[in-house]
Amino acid sequence: MSIVVEGVSKLYGEQKALDQVSFSIKPGEIVGFLGPNGAGKSTMMKIITGFIPASSGKVEVVGLNIQNDPLQIKARTGYLAEQNPLYYDMYVKEYLHFIAGVFKLKNPNKRIKEIIETVGLEIEQNKKIGALSKGYKQRVGLAQALLHDPEVLILDEPTTGLDPNQLEEIRGLIKKIGAKKTVMLSTHIMQEVEAICDRVIIINKGKIVADQAVNKMTDLFTSNTFIEVEFDGAIAKEKLLQIEGVIKAEKQTEFLWIIETGSHLDVRNQLFQLAVNEKLSIASLNKKTAKLEDIFKQLTAKELA
Ligand code: ADP
Ligand code: MG
Repeated sequence: MSIVVEGVSKLYGEQKALDQVSFSIKPGEIVGFLGPNGAGKSTMMKIITGFIPASSGKVEVVGLNIQNDPLQIKARTGYLAEQNPLYYDMYVKEYLHFIAGVFKLKNPNKRIKEIIETVGLEIEQNKKIGALSKGYKQRVGLAQALLHDPEVLILDEPTTGLDPNQLEEIRGLIKKIGAKKTVMLSTHIMQEVEAICDRVIIINKGKIVADQAVNKMTDLFTSNTFIEVEFDGAIAKEKLLQIEGVIKAEKQTEFLWIIETGSHLDVRNQLFQLAVNEKLSIASLNKKTAKLEDIFKQLTAKELA
């Protein structure tokens, strides 16, 4: 396994940012770590890369324990932090030489040339980092993460703040890099996972709520909708089933029903209309959304954020 996380919790004071998180990632996988803002993605990544300790639980990267072998793990892991902390006053190559020095690379000139090509930085390679566009700064961040040829890449929201063209390019680049490495990337954008990843791990409020192959991801979010409706009198089941989109109608008590419809369908207006036609009133009406559906709403509302 490239990454094993077992029962990891993290407390910031009173606040539980991670709650018994477990998952593992195989060599060569590209895994999307998907969740709304504040879900605990960055916290998990900082723990995996050894920047902060877990409050409890076990983390292994490339078969090594993060508590016992943090330096060896750092040498074999590339990390692009959320804020991409670059030195804006440094020139691109100067910065990469500095990173090469940190990792004591043998033939830095050759390796820097290679990596500049890999991430497509050729035309900007002689500039100061501060003078680069956000997309090119992100390429410098990726170059930094890849320079020592790590087996595992941890990328924390690598495309946040990029314009649509840059977004496309960086996603393509990550996919290309991912052909040869294990990649875990975090995002709050569902489409990003679909564009880049093989597998998705969804985190919400510090807990893993789904872990699935990406081609099955949309199934996760298309659970049927349930509406609990109470009339003030009896109604025939057939009348409820006649409403377009209603799959099931189950009587709970004499006047109380649970209506099941296809995903994201809302038949509340039709229920009101039916009640009027039947000369009944509706005593109560509740739409029951699945937890994943709520998460789905947050994840899809933010593509352009
Ligand atoms: P994400 O990356 O998914 O947006 P984070 O891991 O950054 O989420 O944060 C998870 C939760 O932990 C949030 O509620 C955040 O406010 C809180 N948190 C993160 N870092 C700290 C910190 N250093 N001190 C206190 N709370 C923190
Ligand atoms: Mg974050």
